[in-house]
This record gives sequence, structure tokens and C-alpha cells, in this order.
Amino acid sequence: MTKKKSDILVELAKRRGIFWPSYEIYGGVKGLLTLGNVGFEIKRRLENLWIKYFVYSRNFQIIESPVIGPRPVYVASGHESQFTDKALKCGKCGSVFRADHLLAEIGVNVPEGASTEHIDELVTRNMVKCPNCGENLSKAFQWLLMFKTEIGVGDLGYLRPETAQGIFTEFRRLYVHGRSSLPLGIAQVGKVFRNEISPRQGPIRLREFTIMEVEFFFDPDTNTGPSEERYLEETIPILTAEDQEKGISEPRKVKVGEAIKENIFSNNWIPFFLVLTKSFLEALWIPDGAYRFREKLPNERAHYAKQLFDCEVFLDSWGWTEVAGFAYRTDYDLSGHMRVSGEDMSVFVSSTNKKIVPHVVEPSFGAERLLYALLEYGLRIEEDGRTYLSIPPYLSPFDVSVFPLLSKPEFIAKAKEVAAILDCFKLNFDDSGSIGRRYARADEIGIPFAVTIDHQTFSDNTVTLRFRDTKEQKRISITSLPLELSRLLSPSKPIV
Ligand SMILES: [Zn+2]
Repeated sequence: MTKKKSDILVELAKRRGIFWPSYEIYGGVKGLLTLGNVGFEIKRRLENLWIKYFVYSRNFQIIESPVIGPRPVYVASGHESQFTDKALKCGKCGSVFRADHLLAEIGVNVPEGASTEHIDELVTRNMVKCPNCGENLSKAFQWLLMFKTEIGVGDLGYLRPETAQGIFTEFRRLYVHGRSSLPLGIAQVGKVFRNEISPRQGPIRLREFTIMEVEFFFDPDTNTGPSEERYLEETIPILTAEDQEKGISEPRKVKVGEAIKENIFSNNWIPFFLVLTKSFLEALWIPDGAYRFREKLPNERAHYAKQLFDCEVFLDSWGWTEVAGFAYRTDYDLSGHMRVSGEDMSVFVSSTNKKIVPHVVEPSFGAERLLYALLEYGLRIEEDGRTYLSIPPYLSPFDVSVFPLLSKPEFIAKAKEVAAILDCFKLNFDDSGSIGRRYARADEIGIPFAVTIDHQTFSDNTVTLRFRDTKEQKRISITSLPLELSRLLSPSKPIV
């Protein structure tokens, strides 16, 4: 049997320091991941590229707010009452199960927004028992997905399930910093926490992960979308809720301008961010056809969303997998905070002479899932067993390897000289073992280029520059290396 791509990747990730399950010496905790030296760097570069696309290219602000929040924040946001899974508990052995998963195992589909009563009915009708001991299960109850904590002594707090509330709660100050005008984009990249009952999808379903999101505030009365109109000409693969209700499961490729005329989007900022996302996925080398934008059905939407599109990438083991969401949150959050805090979050729009509570569109990306998708699509296994990661040079864990051909003192000294010239790059300097093995190790973690100091270097001051994907080598003078590498490593730019 041929090994699955995901199994090969997970094995490679452990072996080469990309990522692995945390706390293995204590038996491991599901849904927690440690990134090694290689994974850390690829993820950090992925985050930087996202910031370039979604923050700098639009002149948005980026902030960092606390991970811990006091309870009223999550009362106002609706998470305390709504951010739950339905669970069932065994009366005898005490095991707790996610109701929809348990029912799915016996072939019963639970609609995403199903009530606890509906689940009780399905459990009774299908005579579902505890899979561990065969006893009866409790009535369905709400399982809160937020981690509880205590702030100081006795004050209940939560670990944030999204970075968004750290933006909404600071909105008044951020609005002033944004010259008191709309639209206004505020981004944040940081860890979030979701206490899943029993995550079962390895590196895909995490209890702690990094989110990269923008809260984009706009006036719903002057909702014209961005002034540049280039995004209207772009084509995106889209699967609408209406199409899904008709039984269609394949996305359509539509020109954004046409889709807007069809009233597919609740506002023009959503399609703009979808186009920007298409451009970002292309920069990650996720191929055309491997991603789609699926509108969530009304019963699948998060409690705060009036319209929600997911960006899904097709993964070998998990099928279509959400890597980003685009929610139209309306004024839900700011109004919630006005109600609970008693503070005014409205702004005055001079062009219309009106006081409004801004509306929000939120593009939100999961960094670890994107990292995983990037690696899975980059993984190449050739017939002779050669394995390499074909990932974009600007996302690789090192910019370039520097290798002396032989482990002799004069070769090592010359290689160190070359390394000094290249000190503005992140270098993988390796002088041990055969050159073939060193190339193979570098290829496996996706280092795009290798510079090798060989016999000829001593006579004409040239080195070989080797390319990871093709294994081609060309000779280049040491003095032209920095410029050539800068050119090869320059990141791609957003198309809108
Ligand atoms: Zn039991």
C-alpha cells in the first residue's frame, strides 16, 4: 500500500523539526502542537507575507492585544452563550462526547445549528449508547469552547477564541488613530484558544493556534467597495449557499464584477478580500483548483455573522478544509459592547451628517492550517525516493545553504568568507558529511538554493548556485551572489 501524503508529511515534520505533537513525555495532549526550528521560521515568514498582503498593502493598522479577557467582553460578544458544541456524557464511565461526531459515527447527520432537544430526539430514536461502556448517555448539553481562567483572585476570565474582541473593545482609540474616518482596517496576528472536546484531525484541529485577522470597519450607507476597480475583473471559484441548496457541490468560476451584479455578496468588501486571498494563495503556490470560496449555509454560520464565506483548501487526508473565513459581522460586536459596557461606540459621518455604528467585514486566517496546506502542496516525492519541499523561496526556513564541497580547512575557510558576504541572508551553513547528503537534507526542508565552494572557486572566485526543485547548477561569481539571491528571494506582490 502506498503511504498517504499526509502520513509522509507528518513523519517528515517530526524528523526534520517542522512540527510534532506536544507533551509526548506525558502521553501527549490532543490539539496542541510544538513547532521546531524549521516550522517556526516557515510560519513566521508566512505571517509576515500575510501582513504584507493584508495590512501593509492597504495601509491598515496592526495591533497586539491581550490573550486573556475579562468575562464581560465575552458576554457582550455572545461567545459565552453561543460559542458551544453540543455534548453528551456517559452516566456510568463519565466519558464526554461531541454529539454530532458520535451520531455521525453511526451514520446520522446532525445539522450544524441543531438544538439540544433535537439531539436528544436523535439519540433516543437511534438508541445511541456510550461507545466505551455501552451505558445510557445524558441529555445533550452545551459545551463551552472557551478556556476559563481566573484573573487575580476570583474574577472569571477567558482565553480569547478570536483576536477580534481585542480590536472591538479598543475601537474608539483605534478610530482616532485612524484619523477618525471610515473605512478603517485593524489587523491582529496572535494565538487563540478553543477547548475542543476531542480534536481528532491531528495538526488540522488545534486547541491553541494562530489567527491572522482584519476587522474592517465601514459605513453601511456608503458601501461602495474599494475605489480601485481591478478586483472586479478577477475570476474566483465560488460555491454559493443557493447553489448548495440546489444540490450543486462544484464551485463556479465567476468574474467578481458579474457576481456583484448577481447580488451574491452582502457588501462589496467581501469580494475584494476574496480576490486578495486568491492572490495570497497563489503566493503560497496553492494551485488553481485546490481552493474554493464556499458560502456557509444559514445554519452553519457563526452567531455574529450575517453572511460568511469560507476559503477551503483541498487536503489529502481531510478533504475540503477551512483555512480562512470572511464574515460580515454587521454592527453586532460594537453594539454588543455598547450595551454591556455602556460606552458609546458610534461615530459621526460628516458626508452624510449621520451618527452610525460602523459595520464590519472580517477576513480571518488560520496560520497553522495554511502552513500545513503550504507543506502538503509543496511536498514532492520522486520515484527514486528523493523527497523535497517545493515551497516559495521567500517562505523557506533558510534563504540559502552554503556548503564547502569538501570538509578540508581551506574549503571551510573559503566557505566562511562567502558566508560573511551573504550575512544579510538567513544561511544554512553545513560542512559535515557528503555533499549529496547535505543537498538532500536541505531539499527536504525546502531550502531553495545552495551555494557550493569547489575546486574552481580557488582559481576564478566563482561558486556553484544550485536550485532545489530542478537540481540544476550554474556558476556564478561570488561578487554577484548577493544581488542574484535578493532577486530570487523577493516575495510576490498582491494583485489588487
Ligand atoms: Zn460510558
